[in-house]
Amino acid sequence: MKKTLLFVLLGLPLLSTAQRKIIDMHAHSYTDSDFGEREPAADFYGRKGSKNAEEHRSASFAAFKKWNVVKAMVSGNPESVENWAAKDTNLVIRGILMFNPDDYGMTPDKLEQMIKDKKLEVFGEIGNYYMGTILSDPIWQPYLAICEKFDIPVAVHTGGGDPGGTYSWSPKARLALGDPYLMEDVLVKYPKLRIYLMHAGGEEWHEHTLRLMAYYPQLYTDIAVMLWVEPNSQRTIREFLQHAKEAGYLNRVMFGSDQMIWPYAIEKSIRYLDNLKFLSKKDKEDIFYNNAARFLKLKND
Ligand SMILES: [Zn+2]
Repeated sequence: MKKTLLFVLLGLPLLSTAQRKIIDMHAHSYTDSDFGEREPAADFYGRKGSKNAEEHRSASFAAFKKWNVVKAMVSGNPESVENWAAKDTNLVIRGILMFNPDDYGMTPDKLEQMIKDKKLEVFGEIGNYYMGTILSDPIWQPYLAICEKFDIPVAVHTGGGDPGGTYSWSPKARLALGDPYLMEDVLVKYPKLRIYLMHAGGEEWHEHTLRLMAYYPQLYTDIAVMLWVEPNSQRTIREFLQHAKEAGYLNRVMFGSDQMIWPYAIEKSIRYLDNLKFLSKKDKEDIFYNNAARFLKLKND
């Protein structure tokens, strides 16, 4: 009896957190081919990433379980996404990480086939920024037309990238290319396309993100990476959320972690959002789950 009472008393405060459902609109998967020989890269705080694909997957899944993340939009190379989906088909929403329109030998026909085979549920993360293109460029249009036709959501990176990336793997990346206004033509051309910005315009373009969301009421955004990656990202996403709340657009803001090779970022992101005092319990529930469920047209909830 005493034991039960203790359990109940200790369990109650935990229960409300445990029962809350979360959708992570921005998770990344890898295969071992994505991990180099070198030591895992350290993040801003000096924390090293996972050493291999399995360690990374199991740590990410453990964080999802701990925080009741019931769905995760997972992008990576197609093999890595399938590996994750094979482990938990209910959890994984199949995305694909695309930098160039022909990555993985992709063609519009192949994309259509993947959609029909249920191998692709979200087209993105599209990291066009890193390769120096914009989503309004002609090269992306055949894919966007297919996504609109089959009602497949599109997820596009906005804002900047990893510090110094322009000097190494993404020489064509420029901060100016992360401006969400550069994809306005896509919204005009495909009015029925379900599309969300990733990173809410990054550190640079929060006002443009808000304005674009105001002008195009179908547009959603995630706040991934911003919740954990650097103090400056956290400062700017806090301002964005304050402004979005004031503007009345919080109902189109969705949680995401963008944990990359650092699975601890999932918990860190959840805790950061949870601790923002100006957001009500309802605001948080919407951002963590309800907005994404609506955007994704989830059934059974
Ligand atoms: Zn991104």
